[in-house]
Amino acid sequence: MAKTPFELRNEVLAQRVVKNLQRRAFDACYCATKEEALEKALSLIDKEQCVSWGGSMTLEEMGLLETLRTQGYNIIDRDTAKSQEERLELLRKALTCDTYFMSTNAMSEDGVMVNIDGTGNRVAAMVFGPKSVVVIAGINKVVKSYEDAVARARNLAAPVNVQRFANFNPPCKNNGHCFNCTAPDSICNFILTTRKGSTMNAPAPRIKVILVGESLGY
Ligand code: SF4
Repeated sequence: MAKTPFELRNEVLAQRVVKNLQRRAFDACYCATKEEALEKALSLIDKEQCVSWGGSMTLEEMGLLETLRTQGYNIIDRDTAKSQEERLELLRKALTCDTYFMSTNAMSEDGVMVNIDGTGNRVAAMVFGPKSVVVIAGINKVVKSYEDAVARARNLAAPVNVQRFANFNPPCKNNGHCFNCTAPDSICNFILTTRKGSTMNAPAPRIKVILVGESLGY
């Protein structure tokens, strides 16, 4: 079947973004569909390794979390916690796992990722802790510039994300855009820019990126 104009556009854009990610020492690849991305993600782990993840609609939508929870993987799943204290303990434990899955709130065409976090566990894991981090991102997360990536994270990802929390009511919840608030229930305590995938101390790419040619998450 012939590719649709959207598929063709996504493919050419993704090829350029993947090259730019590789130039920044991320281990990056492109998968046209979420099914291919799921297969690729599972190929990066085995059942002996300890695996965990950051909160992500992308990981839910592609079926990765369900697979990890039901197919005998060695996981740290904070949603099994019976108290807030236990949940925090699992979040801390996840920072020492072998492979940590997450998505990104935004990515510039030249391969810089921007992530906003309330608790900080997700951005902490990206920076240091898990031996390997696998970022899975739909093509909808790709924007032109770094400034656009910050704007996407703040004016789209965060105001959409906050709608999920019944007890939170920062200004973006009722207005749809970021008001740069410092409200007690602000979900934007940490904003992380990730501009390279490895360091001098660990030259093999610690951060892998699977860019998916479909819209995933927000
Ligand atoms: S208004 Fe506050 S909580 Fe909402 S996106 Fe902006 S900084 Fe985050």
